[in-house]
Amino acid sequence: MLEDFDELTLAEIAAGATSSAAAIQRVRALHRPVEHGGRTICVECSGWADGSTDNPPTAHPCATIQALDSQETT
Ligand SMILES: [Zn+2]
Repeated sequence: MLEDFDELTLAEIAAGATSSAAAIQRVRALHRPVEHGGRTICVECSGWADGSTDNPPTAHPCATIQALDSQETT
């Protein structure tokens, strides 16, 4: 019984780690850099689409990417 439990727990931990990494990749894909007006800005934070922004241009790496980077290096 104890062996079965340990294997199940390890599998759940592994699955959780995989989905966390995938979630981070999805966030990074959203908050990707793009050249706009001679600057590198965040697509998601700036609302960039088709060469214009819906929001004030936000420099890349934005706060979201910086938070991910600081989490990974700590
Ligand atoms: Zn962003």
